[in-house]
Amino acid sequence: MGNIVLNKVTKSFGATTVIPGIDLEIKEGEFVVFVGPSGCGKSTLLRLIAGLEDTTTGHIVIDGRDVTDEAPAKRGLAMVFQSYALYPHMSVRNNIAFPLKMAKLDPAAIDKKVMDAARVLNLTNYLDRRPGQLSGGQRQRVAIGRAIVREPSAFLFDEPLSNLDASLRGTMRLEISELHQQLKTTMIYVTHDQVEAMTMADKIVVLNAGHIEQVGSPLELYNKPDNIFVAGFIGSPR
Ligand code: ADP
Ligand code: MG
Repeated sequence: MGNIVLNKVTKSFGATTVIPGIDLEIKEGEFVVFVGPSGCGKSTLLRLIAGLEDTTTGHIVIDGRDVTDEAPAKRGLAMVFQSYALYPHMSVRNNIAFPLKMAKLDPAAIDKKVMDAARVLNLTNYLDRRPGQLSGGQRQRVAIGRAIVREPSAFLFDEPLSNLDASLRGTMRLEISELHQQLKTTMIYVTHDQVEAMTMADKIVVLNAGHIEQVGSPLELYNKPDNIFVAGFIGSPR
């Protein structure tokens, strides 16, 4: 579960082509980082995978199933939004339970899943608080909890830490990496931050103007950048 293949995927908004054509395979359990400068198409690519945007041409295949025309809810993926997307008037428990209530699961099953997620995220003692009574890091963990309870085949993160201060960003980076080691679920993580890419990724996809410059492990990109753009972006000498 969590194998994602993009087959000649393109995206245009009106007459503007933002993604001229991408082929990519993300393997089960991989932590893949899409990195590149602002405006290069990272969010668009993630939203295409999530189904929040329609592809213009090409196909998206998840676990052998062509999902190109499937609604987001059917794809079995979970997008992790920034922590400000929490419901301020709801307890942590109800924020995490929200997607399950929408799916009309029975209350006992919801309770169990919420407790399991809270344990993984060290939120057990905070379930009755409101988001406003939590630290920034705890709020971000609640946002992740809301994704975990859906047991997705992959987690999609779009710059989840960009609103946090530098020291909290470092902590959350570690927590998300640890979560990946625990769950072993595919994660796609979008960032413009080279440090996040280099420290978190199994595989980095370097994007530039809607196309892939290079795909490789952090070490491969550092030691053998394919071109000046990758070398400059990863910050290695060439
Ligand atoms: P990134 O996430 O890498 O900063 P985006 O994927 O948000 O980049 O945007 C890539 C390009 O697509 C940008 O030029 C942006 O202006 C354009 N774009 C994104 N969404 C839309 C949209 N809904 N309509 C028109 N252009 C868009
Ligand atoms: Mg973006």
